[in-house]
Amino acid sequence: MNVLKHVDAHMDDLISDLQKLIQQPSVSAKNEGIEQCAKLVQKLLKSSGLKSEILRLKKGVAPIVFAEIKSKSNPDKTLMFYNHYDVQPAEPFDLWDDPPFSGVRKGNKIFGRGSTDDKGELITRIKAVESYLKTTGDVPCNIKFVIEGEEETGSAHIEEYLKKYRKKFSNDGVIWEFGYVDAKNRPIIGLGMKGLLFVELSVQESIRDAHSSLAVLIKNPAWRLVDAIKTLRDSNGKILIKDWYNEVTPFSKEDLKLIEKEPFDQNVFKKEFGINSFVDNKKNLDAKKALVGDATCNIAGFVSGYTGDGAKTVLPGSALVKIDFRLIPKMDPKKQVIRLKKHLKSHGFSDVKIKIFHGEAAARTDSTHPFVSQVKTAADKAFGKSILNVSNAGTGPMYPFVDILKSPCISIGSTYMFSRIHSPNEFARIDLLKKTTKCMCLIMENFGKY
Ligand SMILES: [Zn+2]
Repeated sequence: MNVLKHVDAHMDDLISDLQKLIQQPSVSAKNEGIEQCAKLVQKLLKSSGLKSEILRLKKGVAPIVFAEIKSKSNPDKTLMFYNHYDVQPAEPFDLWDDPPFSGVRKGNKIFGRGSTDDKGELITRIKAVESYLKTTGDVPCNIKFVIEGEEETGSAHIEEYLKKYRKKFSNDGVIWEFGYVDAKNRPIIGLGMKGLLFVELSVQESIRDAHSSLAVLIKNPAWRLVDAIKTLRDSNGKILIKDWYNEVTPFSKEDLKLIEKEPFDQNVFKKEFGINSFVDNKKNLDAKKALVGDATCNIAGFVSGYTGDGAKTVLPGSALVKIDFRLIPKMDPKKQVIRLKKHLKSHGFSDVKIKIFHGEAAARTDSTHPFVSQVKTAADKAFGKSILNVSNAGTGPMYPFVDILKSPCISIGSTYMFSRIHSPNEFARIDLLKKTTKCMCLIMENFGKY
């Protein structure tokens, strides 16, 4: 039997294995079912013909499930699948139509926490390998699986794992843990992700809140913080911190061509969010370029004083703001933190306290790398069409893979854009699981050939 026909003929097995995975809760935020789920993943890998092992760093850190199979016909090239077996918490439970860990099937959909993110994605890859082994007795290239258990809490230890197991994880290309499929059933092939720097700035003026009549004498920490953050960014979104853009390079000609080709309907987008215009009044191509390659300084939240019903004349004692900066390639989070601190000091805001929560660099795979066309050809064949995206506007731990393993990373998968990941009634679409499994087979084949 041909490999793709094998996928068609065994969709029921894929579905029941996915249901088993969903039914094993694995909420990393609550350390619920993590060890049990890692064991279940090993069991599924084994029944698909893959040997696996549990890798550990230290106590309290979720294990990585690692699996490997060598190709007899082509032992010189290795493709790695990066996935995660942990899921987001299912709360609020009462907004689910069925219990969140039921894995119930309704028509073309399988519901449950993790059905798409990331257990649905994981199962398509395992089944693609299985289809090859069952029909040909071999795989077209060496295959490795790195399946972590802390992705939904920020992949705090992935870098340490990659450093410790650098040799074991060595490969020639990584397929990222997820990939979106748009409303027109086109998979989006993602070549990068932005980085992120998350900080908290705070001002403590007095030891307690005061009557607001005292505002004639006591400085207001909220005003102080507003004054400070106003210096970080102009009203068009440009970041004003000295040297912030120093290392950044412009888009290549190839990247620009891809961005021009990307579908983007600014009116649909605006309607979705009920807005009339974009930052800096950007339109069409400029809006697309911003999504792919602009850095941001975003106020995620601002807390101070009284924000309840009615009026309260209070002078708050403290104020706090949370800010996320999206970083673009070549921006080093550590350097940017130093620049931010220097900026506040040199603008006379030494009293503003800075707390750093998270720093992660952007990653991007060169669009002319042969791996890109191998994946694109496979996606076009499996889905009929596909879209190349130079960089996702969001962030994921892609940089350590590029930096430590020196691997090109591409995201492609079965995640329907509106499949409610991280929300109640998350679902996976069976038609997309099938197409994606075939796509993974074709990626392995193309990758092994060249
Ligand atoms: Zn997720």
